[in-house]
Amino acid sequence: MMSEGRANKFGFAISRSRLIDYDATDRKVREYVTLREPSFRLCFACGGCTATCTAGQHTSFNLRRMNTYIRRGEIEPLREEVTRCMLCGKCLLVCPRGVNTRNVVAVAAEAIRKLGRNEL
Ligand code: SF4
Ligand code: SF4
Repeated sequence: MMSEGRANKFGFAISRSRLIDYDATDRKVREYVTLREPSFRLCFACGGCTATCTAGQHTSFNLRRMNTYIRRGEIEPLREEVTRCMLCGKCLLVCPRGVNTRNVVAVAAEAIRKLGRNEL
């Protein structure tokens, strides 16, 4: 028989790594990107850009995931992610929503640099 202490731990639970603590995130980068590249709002996370991305074929870079980091304000993983894009522009050709994906990465990288200098 299960003790009372363990009984409430039985069943489904949210895995720690999937929790998003919105109080610990920083939305300044999202605001910066959206203001300078308004097409970012149109992304509906289809993943077309990721499937065609040149950097993604050679590294673990994932543009859709990067967009999610921006949207959620997850700065730490974003910091590394933005450095992987080669700014080749191939992703621009496939986005069904006309998001200027290359500029999103460029502006996000700019925002990260400004954040590091306390200018954001
Ligand atoms: S292809 Fe466009 S809409 Fe699809 S995930 Fe990439 S940026 Fe978003
Ligand atoms: S511009 Fe960056 S994100 Fe777009 S296809 Fe090229 S390497 Fe990938």
